[in-house]
Amino acid sequence: SLSDRLSATFSSLRGKGRLSEADISATVAEIRRALLDADVAVPAVRAFTAAVRERAASAEVSSSLNPAQQIVKIVHEQLIEILGGASRELNLAKRPPTVIMLAGLQGAGKTTLAGKLGSWLKEQGHAPLLVASDLQRPNAVNQLEVVGRQAGVSVWAPERGNGVGDPVQVARSGVEHAREKLYDVVVVDTAGRLGVDAEMMQQAADIRDAVSPDEILFVLDAMIGQDAVTTAQAFADGVGFTGVVLSKLDGDARGGAALSVRTVTGAPVLFASTGEKLRDFERFHPDRMASRILDMGDVLTLIEQAEKAFDEDQAADLANKMAGDGDFTLQDFLQQMQQLKKLGPMKKMLEMLPGMGQMREQLENFDESEVTRIEAMVQSMTPAERSNPKIINGSRRSRIARGSGTTVTEINGLLERFEQAKTMMRSMAASGGRGMPGMPGA
Ligand code: GDP
Ligand code: MG
Repeated sequence: SLSDRLSATFSSLRGKGRLSEADISATVAEIRRALLDADVAVPAVRAFTAAVRERAASAEVSSSLNPAQQIVKIVHEQLIEILGGASRELNLAKRPPTVIMLAGLQGAGKTTLAGKLGSWLKEQGHAPLLVASDLQRPNAVNQLEVVGRQAGVSVWAPERGNGVGDPVQVARSGVEHAREKLYDVVVVDTAGRLGVDAEMMQQAADIRDAVSPDEILFVLDAMIGQDAVTTAQAFADGVGFTGVVLSKLDGDARGGAALSVRTVTGAPVLFASTGEKLRDFERFHPDRMASRILDMGDVLTLIEQAEKAFDEDQAADLANKMAGDGDFTLQDFLQQMQQLKKLGPMKKMLEMLPGMGQMREQLENFDESEVTRIEAMVQSMTPAERSNPKIINGSRRSRIARGSGTTVTEINGLLERFEQAKTMMRSMAASGGRGMPGMPGA
């Protein structure tokens, strides 16, 4: 999947000190392939990778984000941007009723959406009317009446028993009815076909011309993959639309459609449909979609928390120490462990972030109660021992063990891990002290 591919790309950047030209090129190439494989349209891919490349090249070297995290952050922000930034409001008519027409293939979720929109508009204080202009399928009118009842919203339907009605006439009379009865928003449900065809497109265009909609919402099944772009393009050419509703986002669609449709048609995604029930409906949030495409939960929140948890000043302090006389003490080691303890509750989230792979492995073996024991051990040492553990001989080890309620084996283990940590800190200092500090020797 797209997310898997991106994850693999990001984890290959693990442990790098900074983003090199070659890293960026390789990463961008991989992102391009991953997006193409995920059925994202070529122009969308091109726009996206160009933007990521430019931003990665000019990225500030961050003291608290490693290169993988930096790329994740850039990709995430760029996804939000290309998905439309902030979502816009529905365009309401200056003189009611506002007319919203729904268009899209059969099965896209138009009728379901009509009910959701009706219910949502009612909550917003509007008086909506649903209009049944899909007379193609025998049960279509009935289906709209059912969702209207569920939503507690009135439905305008053609009179029964007159044979095949005229969907254009129904739409026109529906809007007239709304004007008379003071409904302020009209949602016109229309017919679709399984595939795009000229007759259906013409019918939709005729309905459009009859009611002059303030919004034409193109309903797109997020799960149709590569066909999303051609379908969207066909509707853009045949009827035109002002906004997009992505439906079936509760499935495992990863959002390739969202990325493409926005870039190819320029129309913003306004709403997301996430299930069959009325309440499975929300304003479209580009930031959530970006996270979904990356499949990593709320990446930004995660990064912010990681940044907070490891206080930058302390990091700089530690790096300076290493660059100077190499004076890394047990007290510093303890401090690192305490930092890691703060990250403990984030363990689950860190597992979702590929860039945090190294830290994740360490956290897996990390036991919070261990920090408490290490605190006790370090506190049982003299200040001289803390800054130079080499002076701790055998008899001191058993004294410290007794004083801290631990064993000599544990003291030995701690001192061994401290030595490993010290070596690791030296190499970190040599590389400029950048990146999240790992838990040494875990
Ligand atoms: P229309 O032909 O465009 O009017 O599509 P419908 O509204 O009749 O929906 C087609 C099918 O998709 C129905 O079985 C709906 O219950 C289902 N459906 C619509 N929207 C969603 C959604 O967001 N998620 C899921 N899981 N199913 C949906
Ligand atoms: Mg329908």
